[in-house]
Formats: sequence, C-alpha cells, structure tokens
Amino acid sequence: MGLLDGRYAAITGAAGPRGLGRAMAQIFADHGATIAVLDLDVQQAQAVAAELGPDHVGLACDVTDKAACDAAMSELIGRWGRIDILVNNAGITQPLKLMQIEAQNYDAVLDVNLRGTLYASQAVIPQMRQQNSGAIVNISSVSAQRGGGIFGGPHYSAAKAGILGLTKAMARELAPDGIRVNAICPGFIGTDITAGKLTPEMKEQIIAGIPMGRVGDARDVAGCALFLASDLSAYVTGSEVDVNGGSLIH
Ligand code: NDP
Repeated sequence: MGLLDGRYAAITGAAGPRGLGRAMAQIFADHGATIAVLDLDVQQAQAVAAELGPDHVGLACDVTDKAACDAAMSELIGRWGRIDILVNNAGITQPLKLMQIEAQNYDAVLDVNLRGTLYASQAVIPQMRQQNSGAIVNISSVSAQRGGGIFGGPHYSAAKAGILGLTKAMARELAPDGIRVNAICPGFIGTDITAGKLTPEMKEQIIAGIPMGRVGDARDVAGCALFLASDLSAYVTGSEVDVNGGSLIH
C-alpha cells in the first residue's frame, strides 16, 4: 500500500535530472501516484516520465505563461479525469547583489517563482474544487526567511517570501473546498541549481551554519513533500515547513 495509491500529481520544473522536482516525482511514484513531469524542455520531461514507468507523462509547461499552464493542466484532467496534487517547484535564481538587480532580472525571477506558482495553481483549482479535494505544495526557500543566501539575490528572497504569503492566502480561501495548500522552505540542497558553484571555502562556510553538519539531499525535501501531498497531513494547511538541517535554530 502506497501513501498516494490512485492519486494523480503534477510537478512543475521536474525534469532536472538531479533536482528537487525529479526526487519528488520519484517518491510520489514509489508511493503509487501517477505523475505528470512538467518543464520547459518537453523531451527531458518525457524522458524523466519514462524513467518513472509507463503510466507517467511528460509535458511542456512554461509556468510564466498562463495559457500554457491552462493547456497542460486541461490535457492532464482530460486524460486522468481528476488531479489530486500540484507541486509548484519550478524556480530560477540569480546571484546578484541589491544594486545589481535590473528590471529584467527582477521580472525573470519574480515571474518564474511567484507568478508561475499562481498560474499553475489557477489552472488546477477549478478541478480540485469540483472534486472537493486536493493538495498543493509550493516550494519556497530559506532565502525568504533569512534574507538571502549565497546564490539567491534579494529578488529571489522577495519572490520566495511572496510564495509564503500566497500559500497562506490560498490555504485560507481554498480550505472550504477541501483543498490544502502548504509551503516547503528548503535550506541548502545539493542540486543542479547549486552544483559546481561552490569553492571549498564557501562549502565550509555553509556547513558551519548547519547544525546537522551537512547540506541537504533532494530526497530530504521529497520526503516532506510526500507528507504534505498525502492524507498523513490531512489537518495541515497554510503551513511553511523547514527542511534545512536546523539552519534557523537560534
Ligand atoms: P533545478 O534547476 O534542478 O530545477 C528547477 C527546474 O525548473 C529546472 O528543470 C528548470 O528548467 C525549471 N524551470 C525554469 N524555468 C521554468 C519555467 N518558466 N517553467 C517551468 N519550469 C521552469 O533546481 P532545484 O531542483 O534546486 O530547485 C527546485 C526548486 O527548489 C526551485 O523553486 C528552487 O528555487 C527551490 N529551492 C532550491 C534550493 C536548493 O538548495 N537547491 C533551496 C531552496 C529552494 P531548466 O533547467 O530548463 O531551466
């Protein structure tokens, strides 16, 4: 018996081979869910879906494009007849200081992280309302809580903090419809977004700030997402869950 037997899940930005979305897709599939891998690169999305098994599907979906989100989700609903889980995972970051941020930087980071979370959610909410059930998991960041980090500029912190506000507002508005909405705030996780960008000194500095003494693994975040997507968290909504090895303990 899997925790997600018979459930249908869409995960945005899930085609990165070592990313959080890929790890969430794997653990959800291991627990019985059928997965839609959504990403910019349709071939990569289809390849990841095929790795998961025969029933899973890979689709192109640029989350900054409302029409693309609506089209991808209606294709899934047409295929599956329902949609139980949405993970808003697609994200980009830019390592800029405050005064280096130009309009196009701000727009790009806010668009993918924050606007994309809104658009993909709006595309599934009517169906979830009809079902009177659904779980939405938004991926924020420790950068929202502590004001930046090594890779995320202030605009990234702002976008990820916006996701926390959006999560709570969505959770409040959608609770009467049986839809739960929660956010995960990962700390420093070893994925493609962070790979190859660390000098040994930077790594030492990061690990020194983590009480558990190691950077996170994508599976650490995936386990938390599984909890929030499943009925184990049936009475949890509007929460932000830290997955950061204790980085914010003070
Ligand atoms: P990845 O870069 O591996 O994953 C992000 C995915 O989003 C990529 O596949 C990327 O595609 C895709 N993407 C980018 N723009 C769009 C778009 N417009 N529409 C759809 N998909 C898009 O990084 P991670 O797995 O590390 O990050 C996953 C999430 O976790 C992000 O929201 C990130 O901000 C967040 N996060 C990560 C942390 C970490 O330490 N790794 C810490 C805290 C939060 P492509 O590669 O083609 O650009």
